[in-house]
Amino acid sequence: MTHQIIIDDLIIIPEKKGADAYTKISYPLRYGVYGEIRNRIYTFQFNSNGEIKTIHGKGEGWLDAAEWLKRTPGNDWVYFSAGGYTGAYDFTGEYYVPCLPYPTNAVYGIDQFKESNVKKAFAAYHRLREKLARINTAALPEKAARLLERILQMTSERLADRAKKFHEIIGGVVTVLPPDARHVEYDVIPINIADGCLYNCGFCRVKTGRSYRVRTRDQITDQMQRLKTFYGADIGNYNSVFIGQHDALFAGADLIDWAARQAFEIFEIAASHMKTPRLFLFGSVDSLLKADDALFTAINRLPFETYINIGLETGDKATLSMLQKPLTVEKIQAAFDKMMAVNRKFDKIEITANFVWGQGLPDTHFPSILDLARNRLDHVHGKGTLYLSPLEDFGSKQEMLARFAAFKMQCRLPAYIYLIQRL
Ligand code: SF4
Repeated sequence: MTHQIIIDDLIIIPEKKGADAYTKISYPLRYGVYGEIRNRIYTFQFNSNGEIKTIHGKGEGWLDAAEWLKRTPGNDWVYFSAGGYTGAYDFTGEYYVPCLPYPTNAVYGIDQFKESNVKKAFAAYHRLREKLARINTAALPEKAARLLERILQMTSERLADRAKKFHEIIGGVVTVLPPDARHVEYDVIPINIADGCLYNCGFCRVKTGRSYRVRTRDQITDQMQRLKTFYGADIGNYNSVFIGQHDALFAGADLIDWAARQAFEIFEIAASHMKTPRLFLFGSVDSLLKADDALFTAINRLPFETYINIGLETGDKATLSMLQKPLTVEKIQAAFDKMMAVNRKFDKIEITANFVWGQGLPDTHFPSILDLARNRLDHVHGKGTLYLSPLEDFGSKQEMLARFAAFKMQCRLPAYIYLIQRL
């Protein structure tokens, strides 16, 4: 039985067990092991370090009982929206859409951070901290006293400092997580094994501008050890790793295999509260074409299910030129065919692809995606998800969503909108 303590209007549960597997479900589910404090309106969830993790409301003073706020290790708050009447699942593959407080190219989702009820939820969290500070912890059972002490140590300044430390360890903000990280609600530990990318395309807003460079094994191990210390007691709530940066696939089989296994050991993923470990990485057209069967065989043997996301962007010459992406249509077609072949052959790997999406692109762009995702396939496939990534000038939201719905009907692969999220 979960032990709880009642103090005035607060119910305090020092150690609560949530679900142990990420599930796509149409009501809010909390994962892992955490501390919970709730009052009449809000439920506050704290991770094992005492850091605020989610705020969830109900009734008066909240927007929708099915929606919640979640804080990332990078100290961003994300509002998980049920998507109103427009059906989040069809557009994003998830029942909840992460709405972010910083500019993204997401065509889907609303700026909830301007809503007074979200502001009220943050104010309620600060009032909670003031109230907890007045409680005499000496009179509480051990676990509850320790939870309150941990929470009170995690002041706003400390959370901001920890985010700085987190970014310093990995070498900067993760400007974009792979879209497939949605499968674990973006709960990934990021490790950078290489910096920069091969193309430095003109259109890209997330590139570093640096040329591609692999990190040494010592640097990578040091990064993992420091991340383990950073996550501390909460590391048991993670079972998934993002191997960055923009083209980890180009680092080759040996380094990917080694880094993934090191992460599995160092982060003690076998002992995680969460089942089904997952590994996420980005790749490029050239790294996919260069990768041989030995690489995919090695990845398929890892103790993870692996998702590799490739930026194909278009199947059209005029669009490539507009995007200033130094690739040919032939290479993109070959990469698409290889993606499908790998997905057929390796049961623990899914290669997914991104395409840009916007109103100012040449008329030949949209048919070129369908040429790959419909004409090149003779039947519908369940693996090989396509993510459409809206550019800044996506135009009217309604028109974009209608066009996306029409695309989805014709496409022979699962297709969703890419929700750009940083860490
Ligand atoms: S789209 Fe990919 S390859 Fe091109 S600049 Fe951005 S990160 Fe680099």
